[in-house]
Amino acid sequence: MNRILIVEDEPAILLGLSGQLRREGYEVLTADNGDDGLASALSAKPDLLILDLMLPGISGYEICRTLRAQGQQLPILMLTARGEEADRVLGLDLGADDYVTKPFSLRELLARVRALLRRTQPAGKVQVEDVEIDFNAYAAAKNGVPIDLTRREFHLLRALTAKPNQVLSRDQLLDAVVGEDVYVSNRVIDNHIVALRAKLPDGHLITIRGVGYKWIP
Ligand code: CA
Repeated sequence: MNRILIVEDEPAILLGLSGQLRREGYEVLTADNGDDGLASALSAKPDLLILDLMLPGISGYEICRTLRAQGQQLPILMLTARGEEADRVLGLDLGADDYVTKPFSLRELLARVRALLRRTQPAGKVQVEDVEIDFNAYAAAKNGVPIDLTRREFHLLRALTAKPNQVLSRDQLLDAVVGEDVYVSNRVIDNHIVALRAKLPDGHLITIRGVGYKWIP
């Protein structure tokens, strides 16, 4: 289920939007001021952020700028006031992906949300130089020659490639393989990463010392 964070200080919009998105099957988190919004965006790791620009506390612009400065890649959909073209341009410059102008139709907003999520969802397949990985079929091949990946390696790789350029902690990566074993220690993740690295082109699976790993496409 995709997790969406809405940061909006107008109660009617916040309520209407969160209700509608929940009915559409999304997990919805909300914040009604900039400070809580930024904290939640950083801690709850939403898949998408719907962000009003004018907020009590730090502004939507500042949230955008901060998230991007920290390397957060989640799609950001701005809510802007009618006719404020300068606002939109600034927001897009600061790293927002798209915008809707208030008052917006829920249908239009939902279409934007779906489009943004599609753009960032992991495809069923990932191509890494001359290696193709098909997560649905649990198959990988280099120049057409099959590569032997374990099921757990597929799951780890899917978790990493789903969040390119973001650091995932060992705990987050453990979540990706939970359910397969009664108990897996963090060290197991390290071992799988070593094994994966040996099977994939160099330079994509990066260790961030003391934090975890990240995938560079
Ligand atoms: Ca506002």
